[in-house]
Amino acid sequence: MEDRFKYREDREAYSAARVKALEALLIQKGVITAKTVDTVLDFFETKMGPFNGAKIVARAWVDPAFKARLVADTPKAVAELDLPEGMAGAEGEHMRAVANSDDVHNLIICTLCSCYPWPVLGLPPYWYKDPTFRSRAAREPRAVLREFGLSVPDRTEIKVWDSSAQIRWFVVPARPAGTEGMTQTELEALVTPEAMMGVAVAKAA
Ligand code: FE
Repeated sequence: MEDRFKYREDREAYSAARVKALEALLIQKGVITAKTVDTVLDFFETKMGPFNGAKIVARAWVDPAFKARLVADTPKAVAELDLPEGMAGAEGEHMRAVANSDDVHNLIICTLCSCYPWPVLGLPPYWYKDPTFRSRAAREPRAVLREFGLSVPDRTEIKVWDSSAQIRWFVVPARPAGTEGMTQTELEALVTPEAMMGVAVAKAA
């Protein structure tokens, strides 16, 4: 079962070489300029990434009223915070947050392709696009989560949310125990992309 998640060992170098070749061709044909790819990469490294999601989740942890608003109307609640311009665009127009509790653990996937809330999570990892992950996560989420190292208690329901062009989900993980005295900024450091995808939980450092 495990090797179905495996990719070729040199996947990073292989992908990088393909991207370089494509970029060179697009520049040569005048479709993009020499700076276009760097500009896009910089955007996802500095403006749109999991650091935004971490801010949103940490705020939800310290402010239950904000958390309620976040779940009720995600784009509106996100707009309350001091986040980079464009949070509502770039695949973030239709974001919805779902909150974990003792009763429910949420998992986000895209069964069709790789829909993902870019403004709060950045670009999706390789495995998120893997057809085996996509189908198995829908069919047997508890088993898949166990393979990620996450044992969800039997009494906790697992809800799987299928992202699409219409709705892009992200998870508000539960605030870890023992973090009562932490500031919002300190809490942000505990919020991982994996926890916001639902393949992990947030843990006290
Ligand atoms: Fe998709």
